[in-house]
Order: sequence, then structure tokens, then C-alpha cells
Amino acid sequence: MGPDLMGVSVDEARSALAIESLGKTYLGRRSESVAIGEVSFDVREREFVTVVGPSGCGKTTLLKCIAGLLEPTRGRATFAGTAVTGPMPAMALVFQDYSRSLFPWLTVRKNVMLPLKSGTKSERERLVAESLDAVGLADFVNHFPWQLSGGMQQRVAIARALASRPRLLLMDEPFASVDAQTRADLEDLVLRIHGEFAVTTLLVTHDIDESVYMSDRVIILSSHPSYVQEVLTIDLPRPRTQELTKASPEFAQLRTHVYREITKAHGESRQRPSASSAADVPELPPARR
Ligand code: ADP
Ligand code: MG
Repeated sequence: MGPDLMGVSVDEARSALAIESLGKTYLGRRSESVAIGEVSFDVREREFVTVVGPSGCGKTTLLKCIAGLLEPTRGRATFAGTAVTGPMPAMALVFQDYSRSLFPWLTVRKNVMLPLKSGTKSERERLVAESLDAVGLADFVNHFPWQLSGGMQQRVAIARALASRPRLLLMDEPFASVDAQTRADLEDLVLRIHGEFAVTTLLVTHDIDESVYMSDRVIILSSHPSYVQEVLTIDLPRPRTQELTKASPEFAQLRTHVYREITKAHGESRQRPSASSAADVPELPPARR
């Protein structure tokens, strides 16, 4: 927290994204399901924040509300001082399932070009080339998505998000559908991009190691219906590396802390009569290197 300016801390004043008492209830024909109980947190400019919580706790629902794709039932998301009421051009979203987010009949270059509506052709060409360069795919511009590996397809999706030079990058479990080595490479790629493009980033994941490795702060969600269990500052030095960072005792302490908080939150929510019994507690796997 920065020093106080008439009751408003400097860091808070610079917050890019504010989530205030946001809740979402899905209304079915016969029943309703509370996906998000009540969630409040902020993301500061250029910060890397990760929301971590078990499957089904409402992470995708939360990101869709922030992206303006779903209307919250309660509360609001505010980006750069404006309440989110629909999709905003300053935000870009990367989904988990790259196979459904890329168009198989368009080349890599055309997939990345697609969301760019303004500017001259040569400006758009330049943005696309720079974005594909940033994800290491400059040599694959004329390939089709189905000619690429899963990890490369997800890099195309990341390049497409970058092409519009968003001020807020939203990522929904973007590495969940690739193998472990590719996942580690993509984590490092996103960290590098976050630095190079100085883009405020909000990532959601169920992976505890990933949340600690990537972030400046981790928002720990309880299981469904979600509320914020804890906001944890990750003061591991940057640049981080898979080998050194994940081998450090500080990393081990932080991941154990997140694991305990999630387990505790799950135990508490089991006591609440409204909570879903199907919500799963994540296993703490051996540390990935
Ligand atoms: P997560 O991304 O953390 O796995 P989701 O946001 O996908 O969680 O889902 C949170 C809860 O909301 C789950 O119980 C899920 O079944 C429910 N849910 C998600 N989407 C819908 C929908 N369109 N209609 C009704 N319930 C939904
Ligand atoms: Mg999800």
C-alpha cells in the first residue's frame, strides 16, 4: 500500500480494474445456482494478478462478468473508471480452449488480424507481425491452426489478444489444455509479454503453483459459491525462472499457504448448507519444475 492521499492510498488510486461486491446467480427454469457469492478486489496498473480456486468455483463466470460478456447479478466491475456494461476494446480475453477460439479455415496471420477493425492496412499488418513475433511465430504466419501443435495454437490466441494492444489482458486457464513442458514454456512466454507490453494482466487458474509463480498478488477464492478467502502478495523476485523460482523455499512456503487456504475454505463451505457437495478440493501435486 502506498502513502495516504486524503484517505485514498496512492496504489488504490492507480487501480486499473475494480471488482466491487460482484455476484452472479444463474437462473434456470426451475432452479437457481449461485456461481459467485460476493467478490471484491482490485488490479493495479501493470500488475499481474491471478485468481485461484477449485474447479466450479466461478472463475470463468467472474472473467466473463469482467469482460462484459455476462451481466453480474449484484455489484459491478469498473475498468479505468468506467463501469463495465459490455465488451470493451481495451480488454482482450484468452480462453482455455484454443481449438474453439481459432478459425481453422483462416491462416495464423488472418486469425490474428481478425479483431483489428481500425487503422490502415499497413498499420494492422505491423501490429499482427509484432504480436506474432512476440510469441515466436513469425515463421508460421501462413500456416493454418490445424498445422500447429496445441501450444503453438495457444500462442496464436495470445498473439491475437495482443494485436489490439489491450490495456487489460484477461486469461481463463490458458495453459490447462497442453502438456507440462509446453505449459511451463507458455507461463514464461506470458511473463515475458507482461513485461514487454506492460499490460495489466488478470489470469484465472485452478493450478496453485502457477498462481504463485506468475503473480504479484494471488486472489484465493473459496469453493462455489465463491467469495475471496485471502489476497496474498507474492514478493518473489523477478525475473522468475521455472528452475530457480520453483526450487526456492519461499516458493514452497507460498504454495503450501495457498493450498491450506483453499482447503480451509472448502472445509468451511462444506459446513454451509447451501454449498455444493460436488466442489472438489485440489490435490497438492509434487512441485512442477
Ligand atoms: P470455474 O471456471 O471456476 O470452473 P464456472 O464459472 O465455470 O467455474 O462455474 C461456476 C458454477 O456456475 C458451477 O457450479 C457451474 O456449474 C455453474 N454454471 C456455469 N455456467 C453456467 C450456466 N451458463 N448456467 C448455469 N450454471 C452455470
Ligand atoms: Mg472455468
